[in-house]
Amino acid sequence: MAAIISGKEVSAKVREQVREECESLKAKGVTPGLAVIIVGDDPASRVYVNNKKKACAEVGFVSEEYALPAETTQEELLKLIEELNGRADINGILCQLPLPRHLDEKAVINAISPLKDVDAFHPSNVGRIMIGDYHFLPCTPAGVMELMHHAGIDAAGKSCVVIGRSNIVGKPMAMLLLHENGTVTICHSRTKNLKEICSNADILVAAVGKAKFVKADMVKEGAVVLDVGINRDENGKLCGDVDFDEVEPKASYITPVPGGVGPMTIAMLMKNTLMAAKIQNGL
Ligand code: NDP
Repeated sequence: MAAIISGKEVSAKVREQVREECESLKAKGVTPGLAVIIVGDDPASRVYVNNKKKACAEVGFVSEEYALPAETTQEELLKLIEELNGRADINGILCQLPLPRHLDEKAVINAISPLKDVDAFHPSNVGRIMIGDYHFLPCTPAGVMELMHHAGIDAAGKSCVVIGRSNIVGKPMAMLLLHENGTVTICHSRTKNLKEICSNADILVAAVGKAKFVKADMVKEGAVVLDVGINRDENGKLCGDVDFDEVEPKASYITPVPGGVGPMTIAMLMKNTLMAAKIQNGL
């Protein structure tokens, strides 16, 4: 039986730490501010944006929402980002992805000032992560690391396997495990002997985007299993990339879905925004 690592608990602790630090920043005259831009009316994006605004209010940040119509032009969006880059009271800028197709996501990410890029998607921040000299870490992989630290799991010398190589999860996840001295393998849709590679992992991170993809025969006895996936199963119920019922008896630690990595992402966004406010105010 695995120990369940509760993202609900750990994220509440992170948010409480941020709230306390925010109070002491306010005493110095600084209130962290986050601007959240949403273009169009994607229902999932709307839920994420609402949750981010709620989290800001809870920790004491000011948040501003810019809900732009789906037909917003690239020029209009870039102009808004430029304005926000120049405002001293806005420390973090986040543009909810995905954007409508006619907008150039890369150009939008590049337009956000790296010091306000609290998602850590700007190429300059990605490069900083690569060399291990960073201000911000991308929220989801940072949340996974926070869960590991909280559970006392050390990646050093361990065989770490990440399934998925996206820019926002898989690749930075692998880099963070490497920084902590894990021996890291990244798997993807063209990996040939996936089952064999996964079943040798001491630490297995699933970021595939496929419901219950990781089965018991892909997991080593006693492995740590960290599930990033957010999917719906055949009954429409929220589930991860790991088949929890099958895998849990074999693992030593496992994160559930919901209540695992998910709540960590927003908590780490709050941490990044606090850090941005500190850096921009020389604190
Ligand atoms: P992407 O779709 O961008 O990436 C999925 C990755 O999985 C790709 O690298 C792909 O390989 C790989 N993959 C797909 N099929 C297979 C397969 N059969 N075997 C091996 N690898 C495969 O997804 P994201 O990284 O954005 O997200 C992954 C999951 O995490 C999703 O469920 C998403 O909803 C969730 N997520 C959760 C967050 C949270 O807050 N908890 C935040 C962000 C994402 P290839 O590159 O070859 O196509």
